[in-house]
Amino acid sequence: MKKTPSSIFYNGFIYTLNDKNDIYGAMAVQDGKIVALGTDDEILALKGQNTEVYDLKKHVVIPGLIDTHAHIFRVGLSELREEKFIPTSITELLNYIKEKVKLIKPGEWLYFPNTYPTRLKEYRFPTLEELDSAAPNNPVYVDGAYAGQANSYLLRLLNIDENSPDPENGKFIRDPQTGKLTGLLFRCGNIVKKVMVQDNYNIEDIKNGFLNIQSKYNELGITSVIDPMTNENDIRALNELYEEGKLSLRTVLTGLVTSTDSATDYLEKLKSLVETPAEWGKLSFCKVMIDGGILTGTSYMRKPYNDTLGVFGIKFEGFRGIVQYDAFQLKDFINIAYDTGLQMTAHCIGDAAVDLFLDAYEAFNKENDITEKRYSIIHCDFSDDQTLKRIKKLNLSILFQPMWHYMDGDILNKVLDSNTMNTFLPYRKYVEIDIHAASGSDHMIKYDSLRSQNPYNPFHALYNMVTRKTRFGNVIGGEYCISRYDAIKMYTGKASYVSFDENIKGTLEVGKVADFAVLSQDYFNCPEEEIKNIFSVMTVVGGKVVHSKV
Ligand SMILES: [Zn+2]
Repeated sequence: MKKTPSSIFYNGFIYTLNDKNDIYGAMAVQDGKIVALGTDDEILALKGQNTEVYDLKKHVVIPGLIDTHAHIFRVGLSELREEKFIPTSITELLNYIKEKVKLIKPGEWLYFPNTYPTRLKEYRFPTLEELDSAAPNNPVYVDGAYAGQANSYLLRLLNIDENSPDPENGKFIRDPQTGKLTGLLFRCGNIVKKVMVQDNYNIEDIKNGFLNIQSKYNELGITSVIDPMTNENDIRALNELYEEGKLSLRTVLTGLVTSTDSATDYLEKLKSLVETPAEWGKLSFCKVMIDGGILTGTSYMRKPYNDTLGVFGIKFEGFRGIVQYDAFQLKDFINIAYDTGLQMTAHCIGDAAVDLFLDAYEAFNKENDITEKRYSIIHCDFSDDQTLKRIKKLNLSILFQPMWHYMDGDILNKVLDSNTMNTFLPYRKYVEIDIHAASGSDHMIKYDSLRSQNPYNPFHALYNMVTRKTRFGNVIGGEYCISRYDAIKMYTGKASYVSFDENIKGTLEVGKVADFAVLSQDYFNCPEEEIKNIFSVMTVVGGKVVHSKV
């Protein structure tokens, strides 16, 4: 006897987002996969005795969204024990510190991760003096990941003074007039972490954190992510969650490598740990970090930063950012990815960093064809026509984050020259040149979809792609707007392509996993301003309802 569907969803507008953009009224699901799409009558006719039937009440249904850059394990832990304070202004930060020092002992840490000058109202880091006056007896570090601001207590703790030489790859920023340390530290995260009291988390913690954030993602229709920095315990946690039947988010994993000596062993180790079926968790990527970040003025740029506004605290000439490797070293890393059968990718923000990475890719491609390997570039914030042509020729994917344009576009527009700014996330060009560009958040801490760093609300990101509007409502680079269809494909089909998953997810077609979101509003036809307010009223993953507002 032929099996009847386990569930049927009818009376909706099911946007398959397949090649023909077919729309159906109803869908039947069995064993977690889509088995039929058609009219209400056609699909309801398949109903058996045990089939669950869901009325979509004329809502729009889209394939589950795929965030191609979400630090899901780290995010999970970030608010496992307490809510994270993320300041929106220096005033707010200093007030918080003043209150906090009353409650803690001298010497106890005040650490503010993922705090960026472009996200603070004053558009700068707090000064050494400001931090000293708020916390004279505690180490304070305002950490923008690639650059951070210390107070004097922390500098003493680090044994850094006027005479200290710059660390390898990093920089202690000094006042050009007096030569005194400003407390701003470029690429000194490792040095600071050595003296910091680190939180300890076990596998149970990682699991709990994952479950917390997985449900938040499901609420916004996100059903898959690419985690860009997965460690051994993350994989162990994921294995257990799968075994316990608790997963409602599919995760593609990434091994971050830092040295060519240990990389192969490390990647093989990670690979061997994965025990989940590939559709729930698989190690796909080998990643390196090439440069710093544009939110701290440390991404590696073709032109020196001209920080006359003092946003980044770069008080010296000729600074082009931080770069970790040369093209020869990068080629060695590509070789390791190639040999271990993983897909190469890299954190690469500045235009000069992208140049370097492309040099390495092109050199490697002369020896071994990589055009079918779907290697990629993460971030790739600044790309001109020449760069995009090179990317196209190698068939690379770009994994970009629209929320940087939304959050930081206004201030970057003032800091960067207009030529550079004209190459900032040019969505329209991705479509015109037909590049595999996929969207994501780079979500790192905090659970709230908009107050997190970086905000991971996909509907805000889609709104930005469609309007090029920033959080202040300004249109920046309006010529790079794209259609609603093109935008959402960068969160679905194009995102599945990145990790060779286009045959299992990314569109709603027979044979693919039943991962989809029933939207609160009609994404395709609602007023533009409404796009950012959309959420999922019901999210289904592998045929199971994992979130429901009805
Ligand atoms: Zn990231």
